[in-house]
Amino acid sequence: MSSATCLFCKIVEGLIPANRVYEDEFCLGFPDIHPQAPVHVLVIPKMHIVSQEEATVEHAALLGHLMVAAAQIAREQGLAKGYRVVVNTGDDGGQTVHHLHLHVLGGRHMGWPPG
Ligand code: AMP
Ligand code: ZN
Repeated sequence: MSSATCLFCKIVEGLIPANRVYEDEFCLGFPDIHPQAPVHVLVIPKMHIVSQEEATVEHAALLGHLMVAAAQIAREQGLAKGYRVVVNTGDDGGQTVHHLHLHVLGGRHMGWPPG
């Protein structure tokens, strides 16, 4: 399932270029175009899911897979000191691209609470 108007579906399909630092059957990892940390990689499912708000129990295995991929990416990116995984959801969550994605942020100390 993909959306013809979705930016991240176009990246999955190769219509918009991205540096695929990670790829498997179910997901893709590529650097954020506006990095907020020395390492800032987005992890997206290949199937179009609008947001975490749309997630159901049918997506549970896929969502778990994204978390495992994020951990693999963090290791490959050398984030041994730690990192943060963020899923912005909906307007209040600050989501701007409406295809579910994990931000993997690292390479500097992260503040808390987030903005
Ligand atoms: P969010 O605000 O959580 O929806 O995150 C969307 C992210 O996608 C933002 O951090 C953008 O900088 C990033 N982004 C938008 N377009 C691209 C692109 N073509 N390639 C990589 N990252 C992008
Ligand atoms: Zn999409």
